[in-house]
Amino acid sequence: MMTQPSPGRRVWRNWAGTATATPARWSRPRSEAEISAAVKDAVAAGLTVRALGSGHSFTAAAATSGVALDLSGWTGVTAADTGTGLVTARSGTTLRALNAELAGLGLAMANLGDIDAQTLAGALSTGTHGTGARLGGLATQVEALELVLADGSVATCSASSWPELFNAARVGLGALGVISTVTLRCVPSFTLLADERPVPVDEVLDQFDELAADNDHFEFYWFPYGRKALVKRNNRLDGRGRAAGTPVPPALPAWRRFWEFEVMENAGFGALCRLGRASPRLIPALNRFSSSALSARTYADASDRVFVTPRRVRFAESEYAVPRESLGHVIAELRRAVPGLADPVMFPVEVRVAAADDIWLSTGYGRESAYVAIHQYTGLPYQAYFDRFESIVAEVAGRPHWGKLHSLDAGRLRPLYPRFDEFRRVRAEVDPENRFGNAYLARVLGPHDL
Ligand SMILES: Cc1cc2nc3c(=O)[nH]c(=O)nc-3n(C[C@H](O)[C@H](O)[C@H](O)COP(=O)(O)OP(=O)(O)OC[C@H]3O[C@@H](n4cnc5c(N)ncnc54)[C@H](O)[C@@H]3O)c2cc1C
Repeated sequence: MMTQPSPGRRVWRNWAGTATATPARWSRPRSEAEISAAVKDAVAAGLTVRALGSGHSFTAAAATSGVALDLSGWTGVTAADTGTGLVTARSGTTLRALNAELAGLGLAMANLGDIDAQTLAGALSTGTHGTGARLGGLATQVEALELVLADGSVATCSASSWPELFNAARVGLGALGVISTVTLRCVPSFTLLADERPVPVDEVLDQFDELAADNDHFEFYWFPYGRKALVKRNNRLDGRGRAAGTPVPPALPAWRRFWEFEVMENAGFGALCRLGRASPRLIPALNRFSSSALSARTYADASDRVFVTPRRVRFAESEYAVPRESLGHVIAELRRAVPGLADPVMFPVEVRVAAADDIWLSTGYGRESAYVAIHQYTGLPYQAYFDRFESIVAEVAGRPHWGKLHSLDAGRLRPLYPRFDEFRRVRAEVDPENRFGNAYLARVLGPHDL
């Protein structure tokens, strides 16, 4: 194992540049025994420990002044049963690498978010989700976890073995231990028919329940000064969605993928964003231009190639899960609020849906959710916008994504999560000395001792 005692000023920084930290030590374990040894070393040195993912959380969830565990040397699939779909992977595996390995096995994740840069454990730990009214977040695809606990021991948990730890650790915020391996229930590889087209946002809101019910994966993007939304409907060719039985269009040719995803959506949009940052008064017009430039496309491709798109333009983001029925209210309030903001908004709002689940700190716990994500281009002021959004979603008991910017503390989060205290109790049991604590956890979970 490579453990570096205080290598000077090696700073950890997240993707968005919204969080930094200077760990006392860095450690790069390459086996479960080395993860365990790193935790024991931290105990001996009186340091806290945080596992690092890919740094794609906007919050300082992974930040530590203790030992930073870089799990980029702890990757790959260790077991796969193509009959049951059960696949075990090491926690530092990125979703991109996992998707590639799964494809080789004829398997896939049933649902994914927008990008694949996250590590498996990092994505799970903050409740990462995609969209689909009949599907939960990524953590609902987990069958079992192996964790290195605060004393360096290894625990296995599943619905039948240590279920309390399993209920807590699937969305565990890195608070319970270092996830070592994850066993996922995967599905046979599938093709998605993607249909993307601009639709007036009022129409989308009127038909929201039907769109959510009739499509396997439905979401929309809405530029807050424009009238149009970009509606994305992704349906499994073998599923219940509208794609069943319809003629299959081809995958986008490589040049068109490059042109649309890289040139138009990244380079082109990035150039507009830079223009907006240089001349903020142009932003509402640029935003309307982006909205009017939305165009339709239909194609079919392997599920992960449809779910995932490159995101090279950097931004800050906040996202809340709200009860599905309150979405109309939230969008109406945002629509009223955005034109009055002193600093205009460059990025679209993204709306997704998910089924209810039973994972204690999942934003989808016990209720069908609409996810509303707001963004601002990097370097442009966002605080007033995010604060206004937060006060709107507070009216409808919104729950913040654990990896995206929010200001809630334990006092405000506790009433939103019926199992909040049980999570804290399990945490106190498995980590009595707060070995895995950091400032973010202190804020969102409150004092460590019960
Ligand atoms: C461009 C972009 C697009 C995104 N799209 C989506 C999306 O579509 N849907 C969505 O829900 N979210 C999305 N996110 C948010 C992202 O999925 C989450 O913030 C996720 O946690 C990032 O994973 P990571 O590997 O970077 O983890 P990090 O941000 O590095 O860490 C997240 C947390 O996981 C903990 N952790 C990491 N590894 C372990 C481990 N082995 N054991 C225990 N704890 C661990 C860390 O300590 C930390 O608390 C997006 C973020 C960005 C920047």
